[in-house]
Amino acid sequence: MKSRSLLLFCVAITALPVVVRAQEPKYPITIIAPGKGPFTFPQGYQTPWDQIQILVTEKMASNLFVLHGSQGLDPAHPDASGGRAMALFGPDGVLMVDTQNRQVAEKTLNAIRSFTGAPIRILVNTHIHGDHTGANAFFAKQGALIYAQENLRNEMLRPPMRGDGQPAPAPDMAGVPLATYRYQPDTRGQPAVTFNMNGETVDFIPMMPSHTAGDTIVRFRKANVIYIEDFYRNFGYPFADQANGGSIRGMLDAVDLIEELAGPDMTLVPGHGTLVKKNDLLAYRAMLVNIMAKVKTLRDQGKSLKEVLAANLTAPYDKTTQGDTQQSKDRFITEAYDEVQDFPPVVDGKRAMPRRP
Ligand SMILES: [Zn+2]
Repeated sequence: MKSRSLLLFCVAITALPVVVRAQEPKYPITIIAPGKGPFTFPQGYQTPWDQIQILVTEKMASNLFVLHGSQGLDPAHPDASGGRAMALFGPDGVLMVDTQNRQVAEKTLNAIRSFTGAPIRILVNTHIHGDHTGANAFFAKQGALIYAQENLRNEMLRPPMRGDGQPAPAPDMAGVPLATYRYQPDTRGQPAVTFNMNGETVDFIPMMPSHTAGDTIVRFRKANVIYIEDFYRNFGYPFADQANGGSIRGMLDAVDLIEELAGPDMTLVPGHGTLVKKNDLLAYRAMLVNIMAKVKTLRDQGKSLKEVLAANLTAPYDKTTQGDTQQSKDRFITEAYDEVQDFPPVVDGKRAMPRRP
């Protein structure tokens, strides 16, 4: 028995390098693409969190996986529930980018445990939204030290008023980032933090106020990947969270920075929708410029928000915009309307936006 298992062991180690070389896969690998829709939900529909699965949907390298939720169940993100999370793993532990919704925290951990048992050590938040930071406290309790822009921490500690004028609930202090850095215009595009882990070099690059005032993109140099979060999207119309300091003009600057930072073959991982290359951002940029100019012209003529919405300015883009809904269009046009005149400044990561009934 002993000599037979020794023999098998020798065969296994001599055969291994050959097998690895023969199976060298080409990254990125999409395992489950986000859904295309169209998706509709009945009035009063509530997300059935118990039915949502968190799955490995893309592999960016042998030690860098993407986690995303199932399609068709979450009306906020019907293409795939939640915001993409990423995990870099290996002997140095796990570095996570974003944490998915609070309601699926255990499932997100289980998905990570399906490919690594390494301790969760580092977590970076790309922006404050619940589909990206909801399970922060849960993962901090697993051992993660949380990094983010100082503005994100401020947005969490002192959240803007909700749309209905009510104060937002107090944050769970366990999920508030402990390690912070700032965006500085004179070092635009340079990493605020760099980790050397698991054979990879990871850069946290703070962004100008764009999707929010606390955005960070995450570059994996060896894998040739940047997680570009939500200032770009290809499911639904663009969303600048102005109350949290975002702006459409900032999203334009963010796209321009990616044009500088990314090579033509680099894979860009948005928070939602499909993976892209930097050339895919150009049509999106052109749409932002076009809509801003048209809304400005109408507002300068004294048109009301209602009249600008009725002008249906997104019509030329509806056919090519996946996840196009009236709500997503109206939100985009309203943002542009608010931005072209009397746009409040960012203070502590927030803007005092006008409230509408
Ligand atoms: Zn998102």
